[in-house]
Amino acid sequence: MKIFCIGRNYVDHAKELNNPVPKQPLVFSKYPTALLYKNKPFFYPDFSEDVHYEGEIVLKMCKNGKNIQERYGHTYFEEITMGIDFTARDVQKRCKEKGHPWEIAKAFNGSAPVGTFIEKSSLKDPNNISFQLSRNGEVVQTGQSNDMIFSFAHIIAHVSKYFLIGKGDLIFTGTPAGVGPTKIGDNFIGSIEGQDLLKCAVK
Ligand code: ZN
Repeated sequence: MKIFCIGRNYVDHAKELNNPVPKQPLVFSKYPTALLYKNKPFFYPDFSEDVHYEGEIVLKMCKNGKNIQERYGHTYFEEITMGIDFTARDVQKRCKEKGHPWEIAKAFNGSAPVGTFIEKSSLKDPNNISFQLSRNGEVVQTGQSNDMIFSFAHIIAHVSKYFLIGKGDLIFTGTPAGVGPTKIGDNFIGSIEGQDLLKCAVK
């Protein structure tokens, strides 16, 4: 299975990191070894001193496809959840400065906790999903899928131009503003429409 991620998909987040707002979705990937299921803890890696949390809506693909047209994009996923795109910001900064790939800053072991998946059809408005991430009981990120620069369907169409999308593949759809550093002892809860789907402790 593959894990696709979209960077800078919310204007406020692109601005908070002083990044330009992209004209096309910015795509990168993580490996299956990055996944943490069933509320497994995240172990703070020893190669970074500035790991950031990025709370994101995650889509699970329900069928295979390539060169998917945007108008059919919404038919390629039925389940969603919350995930965290843990990012070694200090490592990413060094990679960016050298023009190197971000991979070691983004795709490392355990960098992609995902919560319990729920049916998209169970949501009151699948076209405008509200979500949030809290850390130690305090809400640190809130988002609305309506505020995305690129819609879910647009992302799926774009990714499928380059990569065969497979049933079971995941797409992290980008983070809203409010990213920040984490430390050992933190406890995250990710929720969609008030349902707590993801719990992740940092150890
Ligand atoms: Zn992200």
